[in-house]
Amino acid sequence: MGKVIAIANQKGGVGKTTTAMNLAASLAVLEYKTLVIDADPQANTTSGLGYDPKSIDTSIYECMVNENDIEEIIISTEIDNLDLVPSHIDLVGAEVEMVNLENREEKMREVISEVRERYDFIIIDCSPSLGLITINALTASNSVIIPVQCEYFALEGLGKLLNTIKIIQTRLNQDLEIEGILLTMYDVRLRLSNQVVDEVRMHFKNMTFETIIPRNVKLSESPSFGMPVVAFDATGKGAVAYLNLANEIATKNGMAKVN
Ligand code: ADP
Ligand code: MG
Repeated sequence: MGKVIAIANQKGGVGKTTTAMNLAASLAVLEYKTLVIDADPQANTTSGLGYDPKSIDTSIYECMVNENDIEEIIISTEIDNLDLVPSHIDLVGAEVEMVNLENREEKMREVISEVRERYDFIIIDCSPSLGLITINALTASNSVIIPVQCEYFALEGLGKLLNTIKIIQTRLNQDLEIEGILLTMYDVRLRLSNQVVDEVRMHFKNMTFETIIPRNVKLSESPSFGMPVVAFDATGKGAVAYLNLANEIATKNGMAKVN
């Protein structure tokens, strides 16, 4: 049974999508069968993995609302072991249409259960909101990774997110764990970056990943080439950081590969 991990933070621009596509690709490179689900109407993971969202007409949302078959919309990527459930802009209307459905928070869990056995890891890229699709993602997940940008106001909104997670643990998914807080866009030369690292580690000592993602231009360039960084700049700092994160997560979950 695949481990399902949501990448969530209602703040935009903190590195959710960069983490979703590059963590998923790194797990795949380490030979874990991995599925990445794009659950954001902006469809950045979809385009970052080389697919034009305009050419996509079925997403996880149609599976949740119209009972389309998820098997039929899974597409493979250039990376061995990495599959994608793409997104498209119509996901925007999803929340409104879902309001009247029964068990509307549990739709994504039902859909994912159809393919869960085929994968070691399923990574969900969430949108910058705490709306119904994100709540579905958190309800469907075993754990959540919270990217935090090493910038001003890094911790802003974190309380609200942790509170939402608590509510979901109480009402919808008591097994939901926090996989970790991930520090992103770290710049070793900036005092501010170092202050954020210290502050987050002080407040959330046991929750923060050891791996820190540096600010790295290849990470921001690779999506425009439709590639994760492990394919675009395999030995660069960004790729190495996400491979380290993949290893840290595999080890933490007792899934490390013995060489
Ligand atoms: P989110 O999905 O949370 O909105 P993104 O992953 O799209 O955030 O990142 C926001 C912007 O920052 C994007 O342009 C992305 O390419 C860039 N970015 C993210 N992480 C890094 C990084 N470690 N180094 C450099 N640029 C990054
Ligand atoms: Mg995003």
